[in-house]
Amino acid sequence: MVQETEADRRIQALPRTRVAPLPTPLEEASRLSEALGGPRILFKRDDLTGFALGGNKVRKLEFIVGSAVARGMDSLVVSGGLQSNMARIAAAMGRRLGLEVVLVLGGEPGESRKPVGNLLLDRLYGASVQTIYTVPRWEFGTAVEDAAEELRRRGRRPYVVPLGGSSPEGIAGYLEATKELAAQLAQRSITPSRLYVPIGSGGTYTGLVLGAMNYRTSWQVTGVSVSRTREYLLEHIAAAAAAAADAFAFSKTPGSSDLCIEDSYVGPGYGSMTEGCREAISVVARTEGVLLDPVYSGKAMYGLMDHIRRGLLGRQDTVVFLHTGGWPALFAYEPATLGVD
Ligand SMILES: *Cc1c(COP(=O)(O)O)cnc(C)c1O
Repeated sequence: MVQETEADRRIQALPRTRVAPLPTPLEEASRLSEALGGPRILFKRDDLTGFALGGNKVRKLEFIVGSAVARGMDSLVVSGGLQSNMARIAAAMGRRLGLEVVLVLGGEPGESRKPVGNLLLDRLYGASVQTIYTVPRWEFGTAVEDAAEELRRRGRRPYVVPLGGSSPEGIAGYLEATKELAAQLAQRSITPSRLYVPIGSGGTYTGLVLGAMNYRTSWQVTGVSVSRTREYLLEHIAAAAAAAADAFAFSKTPGSSDLCIEDSYVGPGYGSMTEGCREAISVVARTEGVLLDPVYSGKAMYGLMDHIRRGLLGRQDTVVFLHTGGWPALFAYEPATLGVD
């Protein structure tokens, strides 16, 4: 317990740029639960973190941008996919703090660079956008460092945001979110057994797993990968968790055997629609009036739905679904891809 107090002290001491109206709502999704014939389902609405249309990156960026500003940085270099939610929110938060923002966005050859969805918003927020087309899409080569060097040549002090914001600072956002969720559930005397969340870079999942272990929550965290293999993630996330545990002096560090990660819902790849994802987006929109996104939350919700179908979750269970946002990307898809004609 003494060590948890030390971790809290270290996290509270981190510089933070507060922009999110917290706590985000915790809502019953009873019509969805009924439609799926499944467990009691609650949505933790991190799509409503508010700033720049919200999403999980707001909690991470509060600490990342806070740290950049505290170190005297005056510009941000952010990398991600063409429809990166991180890029959109970092672009807006940078501007709010008077920082110049350069985005290095990777796509695959043939992917449209028409400014729609998040890309449209990046431009509205005044970020400079460089697009790179490679396979695989995360091969930025030296482009990120080149962008930082170019800023330095102009006398700027750039801060390079790690991919997905999954540094210990970013992870702190989801350690704090664990405490926020635990308090909301305790107040309503709800003890879920599982928390479902999508995994991209893995920082959100890492924070949630580290939080669940060290704050002794009732739930275990199931992560649904939207791009990488389970094998890669087990190793990568155990290492990220160890680094964050060390930075914040947590007593418990999850090993690979403590991680519950699914990689069977990726489909053809990152950002590619699957039948299951389309179904999940449609069911949730029609039962709850809540929008999921095609890249992350739709695939994670399909993972939850499939677990119900396979009998891994039953009516006696209670689960929380962390809605990480991402719906601005909906506007970059063809209607038919989303099942709308
Ligand atoms: C980035 C993102 C995720 C994944 O978060 P990671 O911490 O990178 O794993 C999930 N959902 C949405 C909407 C995102 O933008």
